[in-house]
Amino acid sequence: MLTVFCSPSRYVQGKNATDALADEMAKFGWSGKVMIIACKSAAKLLSDTWQSNLPKAGFTVLIEKFSGECSTSEIDRLTQIAAAQKVSVVVGAGGGKVLDTSRAVAARLDLPAVNCPTVASSDAPCSALSVVYRENGEFDQYFFYKRNPDLVLVDTAVIAQAPPRLLVAGMGDALATWFEADTVINARKRNQLGGGTTISARALARLCHETLMNDGLAALNSVRKKAVTPALERLVEANTLLSGLGFESGGLAIAHSVHNGLTTLPETHHYLHGEKVAFGLLVQLVAEGKPSSLIAEIMQFCSQVGLPISLAQLGVKDHSRESLQGVAVRASAPGETAHNEPFAVDADLLLDAIMAADALGSQFAA
Ligand SMILES: [Zn+2]
Repeated sequence: MLTVFCSPSRYVQGKNATDALADEMAKFGWSGKVMIIACKSAAKLLSDTWQSNLPKAGFTVLIEKFSGECSTSEIDRLTQIAAAQKVSVVVGAGGGKVLDTSRAVAARLDLPAVNCPTVASSDAPCSALSVVYRENGEFDQYFFYKRNPDLVLVDTAVIAQAPPRLLVAGMGDALATWFEADTVINARKRNQLGGGTTISARALARLCHETLMNDGLAALNSVRKKAVTPALERLVEANTLLSGLGFESGGLAIAHSVHNGLTTLPETHHYLHGEKVAFGLLVQLVAEGKPSSLIAEIMQFCSQVGLPISLAQLGVKDHSRESLQGVAVRASAPGETAHNEPFAVDADLLLDAIMAADALGSQFAA
């Protein structure tokens, strides 16, 4: 098996990085009309900067509001606008769903893609894939692209303005990175690129974990005060770059499959991707039979920063085997990354692990 590693062409991060967006785009030699697909809060916060900076570098700007779901109908709508407007670069500004949508639009038209995450809530910004949902919020499918985003630009002054819960959700997504990569490596399974894992991806996934443990709480405290600090900078890099490279070139396992399974329960739709992944990680560690001391350490971290470790904390009311059967079936569907474990995974095994993880987490939280 060949090892494969991928990454964005360029990653730029720092306080007020938005001021550098036009220059960074000009460095690629791009010109013409830039379509910025933005969520409401990103447009409110950054429109003035875009409108004043981009024309100075020779770009014309078209700002399009995102509808709220990364669905095929929203991707179709924005692709039609971009094609009709003869756009030459597509920029996404907002959370994971906005970026996943703008990536899909850029890929459909084979245009350069720029991601400007305004929250550090997931590892989506650096990847060459989108998570597409149905209109009702259920997980639909992954879209895989020919290449990663050309440019990822992260303005930590903007990230610091976002609700702390979003940063915490990003920690949940990043917390799973090391354990999923480690599983894939040890099982000699394939990463998200279909190849073996490089020692570089392994090291980055490990660094992601260490950064979370060292800086997670300090970074959370700094966004609570809307302050940009070195700890926040490191944590944002872990949530965005390290977790992104780590999951894609490292690989995924049970944690993300359980996330996908949980999306079949409507009551979890109000919970963020990383929050569901955090519980999914607990399920993975239980299923893998990891030592109680490690599981306790992870639950301790989750409790400290406010990540869910039980079904109740994810809004799930009915904890019976019958009602969770659908979650386990979805999480063990063919093609799910749960099958990257070194042992055979089926719905029954996952259901046992979900029940046991929930019992552990509930007890720990009490
Ligand atoms: Zn994820």
